[in-house]
Amino acid sequence: MFGQERQDVFWIVGTGARLRHATTMRPGAVYSGQQVPVLCAARVKIPQATPLGREPASKAVTELCPECAREVEDSGFSAVFWDF
Ligand SMILES: [Zn+2]
Repeated sequence: MFGQERQDVFWIVGTGARLRHATTMRPGAVYSGQQVPVLCAARVKIPQATPLGREPASKAVTELCPECAREVEDSGFSAVFWDF
């Protein structure tokens, strides 16, 4: 449909969450407190941006939502971890 162009997805951690979900929303296009749709049909609340010079708390979260992971694999999306 769109030739060879690949869609990126972003593995994000919602406020207070312990699991990463994948979203096709670009991190630059979302704001803190916004609920964004993720691939498993759940919604994730975008956390506050981490102040400059601090490590995002979500960096330690490496567990992936199995449903999102399956979608990413099936679609061949190129995926990156993203911390706000
Ligand atoms: Zn998910």
